[in-house]
Amino acid sequence: MRLVVIVGLIAGFAQCSRIDGNTPQAGKVPMSRMIREVNLKADLVPRGRHGRKVVRPMKPRYITIHSTQNYSADAWQHSKALKNGALRAPKRPGGNRIGYLIWHFTVDDRVALQHLPVYEQGEHADFNGPGNRLSIGIEMCEHRGSNRSVTIERTAKLAAVLMKRHDIPLRNVVPHYHWPRRGASPPNKNCPHFLLDHGRPGKKWRWFLSRVKHHYQRLP
Ligand SMILES: [Zn+2]
Repeated sequence: MRLVVIVGLIAGFAQCSRIDGNTPQAGKVPMSRMIREVNLKADLVPRGRHGRKVVRPMKPRYITIHSTQNYSADAWQHSKALKNGALRAPKRPGGNRIGYLIWHFTVDDRVALQHLPVYEQGEHADFNGPGNRLSIGIEMCEHRGSNRSVTIERTAKLAAVLMKRHDIPLRNVVPHYHWPRRGASPPNKNCPHFLLDHGRPGKKWRWFLSRVKHHYQRLP
């Protein structure tokens, strides 16, 4: 008897799917729903302060994925540090350009927070190189007790949303490793370390890109 009820539910679901199938966006998830799944919230650094002291326009062409290597701070704590101007970096010619670190999004297992408009350059990748001049920077949190696979999945969805919105191809979704830092040792950073194999993009990175692609293909 119970089995019949379950079968009935599945049949009902299939029926709904067929009805949805008549719409032009068959099998797709609306952008608004994926943004809700990401749990994306704006918590911008005020314009003209700290990491936004100098506003440098950008047309985003890449998405750069990082991990914080900070085992004690979640996304809200990183956002607070950015807003307080706590994340300073030595400003020097050919190095950090503004005296602060700044990036666009921080993701953890609960939320994705935006710190910087995607039309402004950050300081997260390669000093005055193309990683900073052309890419949206996403930091993944890895604080103790957080669920890494949930964080990674949320990051993959956010990357898919940004690809769709800004017409960025999958080949331009890159790890921080992709951007050599002139004068740093090693120039190519082992970041995000938990998605690299022996410090380089390999099987784990390809798996991550497959998750981004999966979510991208869910969008209309
Ligand atoms: Zn990094």
